[in-house]
Amino acid sequence: MATTPMLKQYESIKAKVPDCILFFRLGDFYEMFADDALTAAPVLEIALTSREGGSGSRIPMCGVPHHSAENYIQKLIAAGFKVAICEQTEDPQQSKGIVKRDIVRIVSPGTVDTVAAEHKNNYLAAIYKEKDWGLAYLDLTTGDFRLFQTPSQQTLLNELNRINPAEIILPKEFAVSMSKALDGYYSNAADKTIFSSLAGFRERFHNYTGLLEQMPVSARAAGALWNYIKKNIPDSSLQNVIELKSCRQSEVMVLDRWTRKNLELVESSRFGDERGTIFDVLNLTKTAFGARMLRHWIQQPLLNKEQIEARLDTVEELTKNTFARQELFKCLSHVYDLERLTARLSYGKASPRDMLALAATLACLPEVRKIIHQHQVLTLTKYLEPISGLDDLSAKLLKAINPDAPVTLHEGNIINNGYIPEIDRLRAVASGGRDWIARLENQEREKTKIKSLKIGYNKVFGYYIEITNANSHLVPEDYIRKQTLANCERYITPELKEYEQQVLNAQEKLFDLEYAVYTELKDEVLSHTPPILNAAQAIGEIDVFLSLAEAAVRHHYVRPEINNEGTIHIVEGRHPVVEQVCNDLFVPNDTLLTSSKSLALITGPNMGGKSTYMRQVALIVLLSQVGSFVPAQKAAIALRDCIYTRVGASDNLASGQSTFMVEMNEVAFILQNAASRSLIILDEVGRGTATYDGLSLAWAIVEYLAGNPTAQPLTLFATHYHELTALETMFPAVFNLHVAVREKGSDILFLHKILPGKADRSYGLHVAKIAGLPLDLLKRAESILRELESLSGETYPDKATRVEVLQPSLFDQEEVHPLLKEVEEIDLDRMTPKQAMDYLYDLVSRI
Ligand code: ADP
Repeated sequence: MATTPMLKQYESIKAKVPDCILFFRLGDFYEMFADDALTAAPVLEIALTSREGGSGSRIPMCGVPHHSAENYIQKLIAAGFKVAICEQTEDPQQSKGIVKRDIVRIVSPGTVDTVAAEHKNNYLAAIYKEKDWGLAYLDLTTGDFRLFQTPSQQTLLNELNRINPAEIILPKEFAVSMSKALDGYYSNAADKTIFSSLAGFRERFHNYTGLLEQMPVSARAAGALWNYIKKNIPDSSLQNVIELKSCRQSEVMVLDRWTRKNLELVESSRFGDERGTIFDVLNLTKTAFGARMLRHWIQQPLLNKEQIEARLDTVEELTKNTFARQELFKCLSHVYDLERLTARLSYGKASPRDMLALAATLACLPEVRKIIHQHQVLTLTKYLEPISGLDDLSAKLLKAINPDAPVTLHEGNIINNGYIPEIDRLRAVASGGRDWIARLENQEREKTKIKSLKIGYNKVFGYYIEITNANSHLVPEDYIRKQTLANCERYITPELKEYEQQVLNAQEKLFDLEYAVYTELKDEVLSHTPPILNAAQAIGEIDVFLSLAEAAVRHHYVRPEINNEGTIHIVEGRHPVVEQVCNDLFVPNDTLLTSSKSLALITGPNMGGKSTYMRQVALIVLLSQVGSFVPAQKAAIALRDCIYTRVGASDNLASGQSTFMVEMNEVAFILQNAASRSLIILDEVGRGTATYDGLSLAWAIVEYLAGNPTAQPLTLFATHYHELTALETMFPAVFNLHVAVREKGSDILFLHKILPGKADRSYGLHVAKIAGLPLDLLKRAESILRELESLSGETYPDKATRVEVLQPSLFDQEEVHPLLKEVEEIDLDRMTPKQAMDYLYDLVSRI
């Protein structure tokens, strides 16, 4: 039990936030005590000390300097902790007894105000459930605030997976039932009241009453979010959060998480980040908010033909207008992250440098307008208005703020000379003071003949004249002694003190006035938040279009033709990511899927290029609906409502389900949801189980997809079950494709070319040989294979449909050893054991 008054205060505050690490402000440090110190010291890699806890006991303690606290807070958050910041809430000089302290902010993953990843949003999400599921999410660092409502839990989880929130709040009563579904997210169970007291939220967003009525469950989630932030960051004005957007399922294609993962849209399975993704190939944006927008676009293709065509028109115009594109790009490379700058301003965190960055960014807008005008970029003229009207603000800021301003706000040097006359005057007095002191020093040296006489300054005594003991006999009478040190004495004079007062006063006034002027400027910028964010939105879109156009030119993409007739016809299509690593060696392939030939079964050896081909078709469709040009010679694209992709036996070790179970779950989801306007990619589905189970399931899945006369989605189905190729003759919608392979002696060459018809051979053993399996093992595998092939006929579901699929021998070309032939001919039954033994010895001697 602590006995010192300070520790008692600490304990009473800590009791309010038992689930947080408490940063307790003591002077220039944030200190952590007791268990918090024991937990945090190793995470932060700082020394653990201890402090007198009263009655002779000691309590563990560690601390971090307040000016670098932000980094330490981020480290704790990244390690999964919440941090409560406790400040002194009164001036220590004015206080009697112990200084009052209180919690001013609680930082959690969703409420941090600086994030490292500039291409990604940092969302705080809240979930609520009535009949529907309601979701609201807000990125405090950009002001992006959205609502989403759906009857399906699966759809909710898909959306969560897409936005990948840093933190989720949900009512306590769902916490247990949702814990499995939300596994892997940082979630907080909150009291129900924060979901019900929505007055503050509704008042702030009174313009959105209509939307909130349409999405009542999401509105509750949004209200809870608002309450949570207000409670945890009471001093945030949230002025950067001005708009409430709805994500309506009917407007964009909702891609499920498996599809996003398989198509590697924004995160690759190999690197776990944006390297090797479609985002990486297309992202040539210059601004951080443009990059974030492109990330959203790629994950949310459009469904409406007019909207898609409008985007394609813009991309097309920019691909043709090279000069405008390059000029605009040049301009945008001077643009800072407007969204995050505005957010910092509304937190009260902005430094003069942030303001300068904002001003410099706004100063680029006239140039952008000029280029759009001069080069007559028609599709961008709609952005002229949102990027106008901020020129005066930027001019004012650039005139006012010193380009070399420090990060601190109370030490002057923020405002330029010539902006406010009174600041100039005070600055002259304050700095003139220093000259004056130097002059006085000289004057006194001459007067007293003491060469070593010095004028110094300290906080307690202010200015003083210092004279060493050796010269004390020369000290004039009017000097007043103030302080005695070991080998010198310090004096003051009335003249020195009077001037000191003037200088210090001027400096203090100067700092105060500079701060006041700065605050006024900041408030003025804040009052412009809505137009600034509108400009950011416009610049972000321009940036995305430039990026799409530049990518189209660099990578030789073409404009897709969008149709509503249900035909996908791609000539010489390429995989946008794989072609980047293959350089010129990538083999383009054609695709034709129509409503009458809607299901392509693709056979051929592993490594032949089946997955690449199917993904390339999915990506070309997806890119078309994003409004991007596509990697092909020519592409006619049937608008799709949804793209589903599944890869057989994909690993899902984390969730603890067996891979086959996962695979079937995923396929079930598709079969329940797919409609005629879907595109389905199934890659080796069925492979996760025993051969005949897998084959029968794959067979039935094809029948199900191809046999439904009313809803036939367009499907690409790669399989190693050659038996399935017989379905071509049973269902008119089914047709076979295969990947071409050239045999060269006992080796094979993958041509990566997709051709009509089925593969007549399977090359598993050849692939194994390329992979480097030992030769003996391969021989053994081949003899097993022959045996199986001779047996298998009886076990197929329908004997008539069994297709001869023979593996060509790996070893046909090799001479059979003469001894083997001899052994084959021995008749063991006619030998005595002794004869057999002798024969064996004889054989061994002849090897
Ligand atoms: P499968 O699905 O048939 O096992 P993949 O699609 O995984 O084969 O392709 C195997 C490898 O072949 C890929 O990693 C890629 O490097 C290469 N590849 C695939 N398609 C092509 C192509 N069209 N042109 C060039 N290389 C390709």
